[in-house]
Amino acid sequence: MTFDNIRIVLVNTSHPGNIGGVARAMKNMGLSRLVLVEPRQYPDEQATWRAAGALDVLEQAVVCSTLDEAIADCQFVVGTSARERRIPWPLLDPRRCAEEVASRAGQEQVALLFGREDRGLTNEELQRCNLHLNIPSDPNYSSLNLAMAVQIVCYELRMLQLGGGLPAQAEAQWDAPFSTGDNMERFYEHLEETLIGIGFLDPVAPRQLMTRLRRLYSRLRLDEMELNILRGILTETQKYIPKPARPPQDGSQEG
Ligand code: SAH
Repeated sequence: MTFDNIRIVLVNTSHPGNIGGVARAMKNMGLSRLVLVEPRQYPDEQATWRAAGALDVLEQAVVCSTLDEAIADCQFVVGTSARERRIPWPLLDPRRCAEEVASRAGQEQVALLFGREDRGLTNEELQRCNLHLNIPSDPNYSSLNLAMAVQIVCYELRMLQLGGGLPAQAEAQWDAPFSTGDNMERFYEHLEETLIGIGFLDPVAPRQLMTRLRRLYSRLRLDEMELNILRGILTETQKYIPKPARPPQDGSQEG
């Protein structure tokens, strides 16, 4: 197994020292692709200092302004979280998660997302993920330092690599590539627009409908062909949506 298709994405990190610590944790375990989404203070000498001998990882880090940009081409996205969120998502510990990641990283682009030191990942960011990962720490004090959390996750990948105990690449034979994050976002926009159009989704009181639909589709993991079929169905459905009454033409109103 190579780690070439696996990227570690740090979202909106506050402390540059942690960014350096993450670079080091990654390189120790043989990973090298670091993506920084809107780091609050970067580049910074504290990052350089904490990276120690992993400066190359830091220097090759890609800086993005949005999470969308960071995962646009990814087919499998894992979000890490220290606590359960309101709508539970498929959740694994680092060991099981490493197996999932390893079984996909041969063919697919995989991203592992890590959140802000103070608030973690937002619900919206976690809803962009196929899977959530939780390090089963003591519930009385569950939140680890960012770089240490990255260390544990990368260590499990390393163990799997060394043990050679890779799960069979179950999806190697699949007949179409899995959808990227980018295409899934466009699908969700289309779906939401259609559901509003047919009156199934009330934009004034959307409740958790889109969240639940996101969970459904990310659990299934659509391939590009399936996604095109669904997009086609939405397009045809939209043709049945009555057009809103036209506003009166200029001059047609009484003065
Ligand atoms: N207070 C935040 C914790 C932020 S810790 C929260 O409740 O989510 C910073 C980041 O480290 C988290 O976003 C996550 O990426 C990682 N992390 C820390 N502890 C973790 C744990 N127990 N399991 C998984 N990830 C963890």
